[in-house]
Amino acid sequence: MNNRFRAVRAAIDQNEVPYSDMPSRVSEYFGQDVFSAQVMRDYLPRDVFRQIAEGAGKVEPIDRKLADLIAAAMKAWAISKGATHYTHWFLPLNGATAEKHDAFFTPVGSGLSIEQFDGTQLVQQEPDASSLPSGGLRNTFEARGYSAWDPSSPSFIMDGTLCIPTIFISYTGDALDFKMPLLKSLSAIDEISTEVCQLFDRNITRVYPTLGWEQEYFLIDKNFYFARPDLTLCGRTLCGHTPARGQQLEDHYFGAIPQRVSAFMKAFEVAAWRLGIPVKTRHNEVAPNQFELAPVYEEANISIDHNQLAMVLMEKVAHKHNLRVLFHEKPFAGVNGSGKHNNWSLATNTGKNLLSPGHTPKTNLLFLTFFINFIRAVGAHPGLLRAVIASAGNDHRLGANEAPPAIMSVFIGSQLTSVLKEIETKVKERKMTPDEKTDLKLNIGKIPRIIFDNTDRNRTSPLAFTGNKFEFRAVGSSANCGAAMIAMNTIITQQLRSFKQQIDALMAKNVEKDEAIFRILRKYIKESKHILFEGNNYSNDWVEEAEKRGLSNVKETPGALEEFLSANTVRLFTETGILSKRELHARYEIRMELYAKVLQIESRVLGDLAGNHILPASIRYQNVLLDNLRGLKEVLPESSYSEVLGQQAYTIGKISEHITAIKDNVATMINARKEANALEDAAKRAYAYCDTVKPLLEVVRYHIDKLEILVDDTLWPLPKYREMLFIK
Ligand code: ADP
Ligand code: MG
Repeated sequence: MNNRFRAVRAAIDQNEVPYSDMPSRVSEYFGQDVFSAQVMRDYLPRDVFRQIAEGAGKVEPIDRKLADLIAAAMKAWAISKGATHYTHWFLPLNGATAEKHDAFFTPVGSGLSIEQFDGTQLVQQEPDASSLPSGGLRNTFEARGYSAWDPSSPSFIMDGTLCIPTIFISYTGDALDFKMPLLKSLSAIDEISTEVCQLFDRNITRVYPTLGWEQEYFLIDKNFYFARPDLTLCGRTLCGHTPARGQQLEDHYFGAIPQRVSAFMKAFEVAAWRLGIPVKTRHNEVAPNQFELAPVYEEANISIDHNQLAMVLMEKVAHKHNLRVLFHEKPFAGVNGSGKHNNWSLATNTGKNLLSPGHTPKTNLLFLTFFINFIRAVGAHPGLLRAVIASAGNDHRLGANEAPPAIMSVFIGSQLTSVLKEIETKVKERKMTPDEKTDLKLNIGKIPRIIFDNTDRNRTSPLAFTGNKFEFRAVGSSANCGAAMIAMNTIITQQLRSFKQQIDALMAKNVEKDEAIFRILRKYIKESKHILFEGNNYSNDWVEEAEKRGLSNVKETPGALEEFLSANTVRLFTETGILSKRELHARYEIRMELYAKVLQIESRVLGDLAGNHILPASIRYQNVLLDNLRGLKEVLPESSYSEVLGQQAYTIGKISEHITAIKDNVATMINARKEANALEDAAKRAYAYCDTVKPLLEVVRYHIDKLEILVDDTLWPLPKYREMLFIK
């Protein structure tokens, strides 16, 4: 049987790889399929275009007449490019993207039809979509869910369909997606950050978060994907013995990109560039078959849409190359899993990066203000950051020795550590003397503009300052970046609001502005010590140290999700107006439900694999050994029985042991599932799956993996790691 897999493997490696025939000058077709500012300029009356350009970047409603004009332009443009359908494109809470296509054409009687699309269809749709998760925010009998146009993210054409980015809300106006709270958080952060910036620079009138994601993924040949029910249905292997050679030679990371993969990447990049996704970097990752791609950073809303779109595109392109993309956080045990680093910063209308140290004491004080406020914000909400990245898949990564642990902390590097120390020791609670001030400012002015802290650039920290941005590394590869971005934007919003209030209060008492800022920052530095950690986050020492500091280390999703309901989180989201208590609760429910469902599916699939694939093959091999034993008995002289037959009997016994263990544990697992399923409450069900079903998945796997190395290779029914990995 296994020869089949080997033959597949050989055939695959000989495949001709399709190359694309797009022009090599990317600028000639970049954004070709996007309803961009340039297209609008061509398709809209000049005054209308000017009106839109002025509002660009602001999140505000667009009036009906304008919507009609834009819709007409969109329609004309889309049809000229061969589009036949349009869809509202949204990001529901299951983490996927959703579309429901409608044709432009509308029958107008007598066998005639016209192409119709106006402001009404552009601005709002009622896709029903009652099967998408709502966490109890709507019942199916009042299933109305609305999608409403997000003019701040450009529409695009994919597969002949005009896709219009939208928010997705319930009939009652509750958010059912990532985009609506994200847009609210963008407005909120803009407002307060601008106020804070105005303390330094009157020209700053707009502040927006930027996001640059780094997407890790695995590629696998289609044939193996379909030969493994676990990959097909769960996106990860539920069993499989670690190959003799994994990643220990460290030869894959940054190595030459395999030919077949390179063809896939190139085709993907062309598709991405046409859609205006500025993908820039591609390379091999640590594990065999693991790769990464990263774009140039963009305004967060667009960057999130682009990440979701990129994931969809990667899957489409992979199909054409007879490959499948695995976005799961841990598709293969024993080799590294995949994450999605979220590089986050704040930019201004003046072209400044607020997290980039400047040339002068004044600009550095602006930098330090945002830098220190962010650290304090994380210190106030570590549990929330842990919660938003929690998922069944990511649990396999966090805390394993390859990914940041489940303990949230911030790394800032030695240079900035000493700057904070400086402020802490030199700033006084009283009015400082001119000499004291000059001394302090001199030191602050010395922060290098580009921080090359490469000597100790800590790769183990979940949240690291990397010179001009914070890099949130704990996000899972399959996640929608929206969840992490909403959390980061919201905590800094709340933090900056309180900062501004405290500054205003001090200034009202005639404390000079710079001194007020220094005093508050010094207070924050003192209050944030628990969250700063420069050492090795993978070490056991850190686990102990974190416990002493009172930092939580919640290893599994259900426990981590509790933070959504904590008084601290509820206050954060309701005070900032980003999510209501109801909406938070819905998010909690949806994630609990999703967690239980993922484990339910994994457990069913593993039960099926064990019963229908592994056990029959193992029993067949056991019979071969038994026949052999009987035969030996017939021919061997009795004197040599004990040694030879003893060995044979030992192997048969071992196989029996594993078979029995698998049968018993699968039966126990089915029972555990039944009991968990009977629980009405989504959270209780999730905990039950976590505590009773999940450990059994590991036990069953252990025995299957043992059998994999005992049973004849030609009888083994599943492709093995060594066959699936090491793509050429
Ligand atoms: P790595 O983490 O692999 O070493 P880098 O540190 O160079 O890579 O990070 C690259 C990522 O950081 C890219 O996705 C890039 O777009 C993003 N990035 C760079 N500057 C910013 C910024 N100001 N805001 C957000 N993301 C940024
Ligand atoms: Mg990175």
